[in-house]
Amino acid sequence: DSQLVRRELLKQLAEKGLDKEIKVVETGCFGFCNLGPIMVVYPEGTFYCQVKTQDVNEIVEEHFIKGRPVQRLLYHEPDKETRTLEFDNIEFFRHQKRVALANCGHINPEVIEEYIARDGYFALAKVLHEMTPQEVIDVIKKSGLRGRGGGGFPTGVKWEFASKSQGDQKYVVCNADEGDPGAFMDRSVLEGDPHAVLEAMAIAGYAIGANQGYIYVRAEYPIAVERLQTAIKQARELGLLGKNIFSKGFDFDIDIRLGAGAFVCGEETALLTSIEGRRGEPRPRPPFPAVAGLWGKPTIINNVETFANVPPIIRNGWEWFASMGTEKSKGTKVFALAGKINNTGLIEVPMGTTLRTIIYDIGGGIPKGKKFKAAQTGGPSGGCIPAELLDIEIDYDNLTAIGSMMGSGGLIVMDEDNCMVDIARFFLEFTQDESCGKCPPCRIGTKRMLEILTKITEGKGTPEDLTNLETLAKTIKNASLCGLGQTAPNPVLSTLRYFRHEYEAHIYDKK
Ligand code: SF4
Repeated sequence: DSQLVRRELLKQLAEKGLDKEIKVVETGCFGFCNLGPIMVVYPEGTFYCQVKTQDVNEIVEEHFIKGRPVQRLLYHEPDKETRTLEFDNIEFFRHQKRVALANCGHINPEVIEEYIARDGYFALAKVLHEMTPQEVIDVIKKSGLRGRGGGGFPTGVKWEFASKSQGDQKYVVCNADEGDPGAFMDRSVLEGDPHAVLEAMAIAGYAIGANQGYIYVRAEYPIAVERLQTAIKQARELGLLGKNIFSKGFDFDIDIRLGAGAFVCGEETALLTSIEGRRGEPRPRPPFPAVAGLWGKPTIINNVETFANVPPIIRNGWEWFASMGTEKSKGTKVFALAGKINNTGLIEVPMGTTLRTIIYDIGGGIPKGKKFKAAQTGGPSGGCIPAELLDIEIDYDNLTAIGSMMGSGGLIVMDEDNCMVDIARFFLEFTQDESCGKCPPCRIGTKRMLEILTKITEGKGTPEDLTNLETLAKTIKNASLCGLGQTAPNPVLSTLRYFRHEYEAHIYDKK
């Protein structure tokens, strides 16, 4: 739809001789999905939403020629009389703090000059001209940045391990194999700001002594792949990738590898095996990739959002980044809001923001005035958080303590109509299907759990089934080889913890 609006706009501007005066810029995702297609008119930032091709004529005639914004296309906050002219004033954006998403929706991702105009590649120039590799690592360590792909491991510590590992060749890998249902954080960054990831990977390469990077991206993201290819080509042409970058004797280049849709390939060791051209199966750690990764060489692997935070940290200083967030989780986090929520979309908030702020202030609450029942964070292996924990400050440690996890940032909201046993079954079915089958606890255990859950949802469960379900879940968590199996039981364990009465209702009332 956005492309149709854009084409119509270009046509009408040309017909009216305004095409020299008014520039149409195609950007990446703005984040507010259910308001699209969105058009922002600068310099004042007038925010038009749900624009259709038939609206274009009115925008051109009224706004561009007569200088009168088209009121009916401005955003209307549900509980307010007036319409909002500028997007900064919209509740959805007001509570956000954009770091990783700072350029998304603002620049044309296919034009490197637009990235450079917003301080792009300044951080790379700074590290090459002014900093030693160890100083770069120290800044990242002091910033408190932790892996945004789910693990939450301190990024600077990971880089330091790789920098100290001996090897004639080292690698930097970007994990863009975003497989969680309903999650599109990485996709939006790659489609909206691909140079941020390239710049960060080059900085990481300098820090650890690597001169080759790989981006492992899902083949199901064709626009992201295309924009990455364009960005790599442009960066090479300007000498920002390749040999002797900034004439500082540092070589670094990046290639793309396409994933074929296996969820397990998001696990770092499986991903590396897949890049090597073999079946994407996890392997035991240690050795960790920082010691023996790609082709046995020291490798750091970070996800898209983690990398997107690196250039701003270098530009603004670690103190700036560490001033946001909670004691142990610094900076911001991107979430994909989905499910029973009014404002679906992509948001970025400081760590420590409460679930209530996310769901009610940013998300606009639950549709049709229904009651909030639970939110699932962390993708299909995350836990379900009940209403009594709505005021919990979201960070890595708090989420783990209540039986969920940060994961990569999926956030699915459930209302009073959702059955939590069905929800647990739905997610377990996904992880069971995606189990690679290498280790028995995950391969067989998740299957048995799914059988028990199916029995319960069909009203054929027994009290022993609940005990067996819990025992199996704990065993799978403890005995599985990789993160997929270790976290797969989370939806079941968290719903047993907070919504046990719903399981019991299925068993005793045979519902
Ligand atoms: Fe494969 Fe599951 Fe074992 Fe991971 S835990 S290695 S996905 S079988």
